[in-house]
Amino acid sequence: MSEHDNRDDQEIEKVKDAEVQVEDKKQNNDDDYEKVCFICHRPESVAGKMIDLPNHISVCSDCMQKSFDIMSNGQMDFSQLMNIPGIQVFNMADMEQNIPKPQKIKKKKEGEERKPLVDIRHLPAPHKIKAKLDEYVVGQEYAKKAISVAVYNHYKRVATDTMDDIEIEKSNMLMIGPTGSGKTYLVKTLARLLDVPLAITDATSLTEAGYIGDDIESVVSKLLAAADNDVEKAEQGIIFIDEIDKIAKKKNSSQRDVSGESVQQGMLKLLEGSDVEVPVGANSKNAMVPLTTVNTRNILFICGGAFPDLEGIIKERLTKQSMIGFGADLKDKYDKDKNILQKVTTEDLRNFGMIPEFLGRLPIVFTLQGMNEEMLIKILKEPKNAILKQYQKLLALDEVKLEFDDGALEAIAKKAMKKDTGARALRAIIEEFMLDIMYEIPKDDSIGEVIITREYIEGTGGPVILLRGQEVPRLS
Ligand code: ADP
Repeated sequence: MSEHDNRDDQEIEKVKDAEVQVEDKKQNNDDDYEKVCFICHRPESVAGKMIDLPNHISVCSDCMQKSFDIMSNGQMDFSQLMNIPGIQVFNMADMEQNIPKPQKIKKKKEGEERKPLVDIRHLPAPHKIKAKLDEYVVGQEYAKKAISVAVYNHYKRVATDTMDDIEIEKSNMLMIGPTGSGKTYLVKTLARLLDVPLAITDATSLTEAGYIGDDIESVVSKLLAAADNDVEKAEQGIIFIDEIDKIAKKKNSSQRDVSGESVQQGMLKLLEGSDVEVPVGANSKNAMVPLTTVNTRNILFICGGAFPDLEGIIKERLTKQSMIGFGADLKDKYDKDKNILQKVTTEDLRNFGMIPEFLGRLPIVFTLQGMNEEMLIKILKEPKNAILKQYQKLLALDEVKLEFDDGALEAIAKKAMKKDTGARALRAIIEEFMLDIMYEIPKDDSIGEVIITREYIEGTGGPVILLRGQEVPRLS
């Protein structure tokens, strides 16, 4: 057997060992969860020991007994067996399609004290949270500061859970910023740093209950899934609702506004804190899935949106204000103001179409800057997991060094600015020209270094390719 085969065998052994370990871990983790009866929906702690059927289905002994009784009495009415109107036959094949995930909820141990996910003694101070965010998120100083303080206060509130006169108000947030300015990225990074579950939803898919689209409560069931069906963990998680500007009140509409104002109305209770019945292991409520109750009091809601045309509303207000009295300004004074969004008030948001009750439940409002070339260049190279670093790492595995000269970075940023989708455009641009590099370089073992140049990005030349041991030609 050659040495190569030997190595392959060892690799296979290693993978097998790892698989066994994962299996063991799964089983250990399973001990923390309890099964839910498929028929009566009671959890194991209430209904007693469950009988396991295929496809992750469990049935409690009461329901099993009832089923046998019905059968032995000769009344083979299966709809009675399921106790669900409209479902006539207890068909295993149907269930297979309907139940993709195990329907278990995390056990509540008796006498166990509610333990906050984030311990107040180990809660990082706002400046520490911001310092961590700085490692990943470029610029957006104000937003990072605001979010750090808000999150710190939120988890302080959760940890103390005071029931005295001074109840700390919930610090739900509203983030305003153009596409690709890092709204989602900021929240994702934050949740990862704090190690709390996070669910991200799009407000556009939400509709009033009963209409086509997702119920508003589906956001909570997503969070429950993100928390591995652990209700207590989910109750301290973060829900990010993107594109919140799309549920603004529709103007001049004579029809019922099921995806706009009604969604805002429907979200009020959720934002403030209420008990929500959510399906376990599925996105929508139906007779086939068990339900559990999640309290949203300690869930932090962060809403984000680009709010197009908001600038116009702010400008109009400011111009109107400044045209009265002695301090009258020129009419076009605000046209050139780049930071106009920062001057947003709740009045402007109300004019945009958000209802006052909804805004009242999002006390912290802050804005993110649109991207400029300088920021885009920084995003390319500075964050801990910057795109360029990722490519450098990939090529380093082939023992090839990858460099980008300054001109190349500028050219990439310029191209991205033209697309008007913020930092989002960067990856697409880089992937496009890195494809050839990633395809060609591994072909030739003698290549030691690749330098991406402005000419290569602009399509007027090629990258500089150096063979192993060759000196870099530096222009002096
Ligand atoms: P949006 O504001 O539309 O939610 P995203 O957060 O989805 O934008 O940003 C898209 C991508 O751009 C992110 O995945 C991230 O890689 C990158 N990005 C955006 N803004 C920043 C930033 N300020 N710092 C670092 N990367 C960023």
